[in-house]
Amino acid sequence: MNYRHIYHAGNFADVAKHIILSRVILYMQRKEKAFRVFDTHAGIGLYDLSSEEAQKTGEWQGGIGRLLEAYVNAPKNVKPLLEPYLDVVRSFNEEEGIRQYPGSPLITRKLLRNQDRLTALELHPDDFETLQSHFEGDYQARITHLDGWLGVKSHMPPKEKRGVTLVDPPFEVFHEFFNHLKGMKEANERFSAGTHMMWYPIKNRQACDEFRTELYKTKIPAILDISLEVRPQKGRVNTFDGTGLAIVNPPYALEQELKLIMPWLKSVLEENKGSGQYKINWINPAP
Ligand code: SAM
Repeated sequence: MNYRHIYHAGNFADVAKHIILSRVILYMQRKEKAFRVFDTHAGIGLYDLSSEEAQKTGEWQGGIGRLLEAYVNAPKNVKPLLEPYLDVVRSFNEEEGIRQYPGSPLITRKLLRNQDRLTALELHPDDFETLQSHFEGDYQARITHLDGWLGVKSHMPPKEKRGVTLVDPPFEVFHEFFNHLKGMKEANERFSAGTHMMWYPIKNRQACDEFRTELYKTKIPAILDISLEVRPQKGRVNTFDGTGLAIVNPPYALEQELKLIMPWLKSVLEENKGSGQYKINWINPAP
């Protein structure tokens, strides 16, 4: 386990993923009944963007850095959709600028109501300890040192019977696509009403297309695929050019919200003007 998210925290992929996560969680709150969010690969929770590691790549500048700068000029119908996510980011920072970036477990936690719960899993022993330190005494959060792929299976269904799973593996190994398919099928067998979010990097386009084809073949209804590429592929080299999320049982309103958010987000996060693209496609349509 060599992957350290501190090098990438707040980059374009985090921003897109966390905005979508926030919209999913807020939608769940349209009903009074409690729900649980499972974060199977949770990371350390809070990232110091002034650290040597974050400064080394500077990736956050092309993500949350750009977003905060551009936000004042965002269209009127986009701003309210981003505000809850940005409020969370701002809550970890002074009024001016940004020094800390919250990861998915802290973003989730800040958005939960009293009746809602978070289960966060992290396998790296040091990262687990750091993550746990942010939730001491928090009865709404259960932080567990466990393999996320086991958790997808063993923690389903949640006792609340309403839930969202964010599966955000490091993709250090190519077979993470296979892990996603296996984990999603297992989760779906046990909890078919749940919303299941699978993050993937866009590096090798062919591998992404094969993943989408395999998702299609599962015949599981209602899988929405959202992708954002900040630059086109250069030759045959596979570089990290984009971010994807395949979502089983997305909230009803998500597609419409993303049709507003994604064009603007693309224009903000693309490397150069016109170099990016986004797609919102049903892999398998809702019944
Ligand atoms: N979800 C986080 C966020 O959005 O802020 C980022 C998570 S990062 C991409 C992936 C994390 O998964 C790393 O912290 C890594 O240590 C952890 N990890 C790697 N393999 C794991 C496994 N099998 N189970 C649980 N966590 C794992």
